[in-house]
Amino acid sequence: ASDSEMQLIRIHEYMTDLYHHILMHTKEGESALEYLEDRGFTSEIIRKEKIGIAPDMRDFTKNALSDKGFSLELAFQAGIISRNEENFSYYDRFNGRIMIPIRNHQGYIVGYTARSVDGREPKYLNTPETSIFQKRRLLYNLSDARKDIRKQDEVILMEGHLDIVKVKMTSVGNVIGLMGTALSEQHIQSLTRLASNVTLMFDGDDAGQSAQLSLGGDLLEAGLNVFVISMPKGMDPDEYIEKNGKTAFENLVKNEKRHYIHFKAEYLLEESMNNDMAFSNNIRTLTEHLKHVRDQVIKDRLIQHISQLYKVDRQSIEQNVPASAGGYA
Ligand code: ATP
Ligand code: MN
Ligand code: MN
Ligand code: MN
Repeated sequence: ASDSEMQLIRIHEYMTDLYHHILMHTKEGESALEYLEDRGFTSEIIRKEKIGIAPDMRDFTKNALSDKGFSLELAFQAGIISRNEENFSYYDRFNGRIMIPIRNHQGYIVGYTARSVDGREPKYLNTPETSIFQKRRLLYNLSDARKDIRKQDEVILMEGHLDIVKVKMTSVGNVIGLMGTALSEQHIQSLTRLASNVTLMFDGDDAGQSAQLSLGGDLLEAGLNVFVISMPKGMDPDEYIEKNGKTAFENLVKNEKRHYIHFKAEYLLEESMNNDMAFSNNIRTLTEHLKHVRDQVIKDRLIQHISQLYKVDRQSIEQNVPASAGGYA
């Protein structure tokens, strides 16, 4: 990081320690700490992630920084305080929120995702785009997960930051997140450099399902092997762990990985049954996806699966899929 970037990072390092202290050791932090504990977050993981609380005050962060001699102009550039554009006065951006630090790929804190605890909207407020906080480049938790990702040659991608924090309490370490659901070119590039396998584990609701379907296709086209772990209806990984325990979650991750094309074939089956136009479109979509599968054994298995599921001759699928080995663009 350059000198000016390091200045913005130092502001984050300072405030993160302060927010964390307030959460753990002061009255202002009590109810948020209780909230986190009720949700199953241990003080150990809260300490490790340096989760904190921004007090519900207009000028707390601003005053803390200026008392410490930090420039408010820089704090504003860091996205940690806001500015009134009429009289150029500064005020806090984050009030009464649980502060979850976001680290960049080198492990420096560059921003926050901040959750409200009193039902205040929006539920999550993020750091705005800054010179050090660029959503299209950041992969949440990569600095911690990198080693496990390399060892396993697999990335597990999740939707929610607190899902990832909760999963870090289990033995599953290769888990990362986007800042939102948009997958950028830079994300895809980082992912292809990190591992050959990506597993999607999004929320078990319509939003999660459709994000999984669209992201999975993009990742497959980028040459990655894509797998899906489906959550039970209405659950996300955090809720799954709370309900069923760590071991059940670890087993799920070990045993329930379906290939993206398998997942999609089942997803598209219902609408295909009484709709011949959808049927042929969906077969075509699946065949297109199959062209990106390099592993001949996996491809063969998928073709067999689709032909059984859709009750079509496997030759008629194979006809449209060239035999693998370098045959993809
Ligand atoms: P929680 O368990 O605390 O309710 P969650 O992660 O399960 O949080 P979801 O509603 O499933 O929350 O949303 C998934 C992710 O989408 C969040 O972790 C957050 O990154 C993002 N998100 C949700 N709501 C907002 C919002 N209002 N503004 C920005 N990002 C949001
Ligand atoms: Mn959701
Ligand atoms: Mn959740
Ligand atoms: Mn969720």
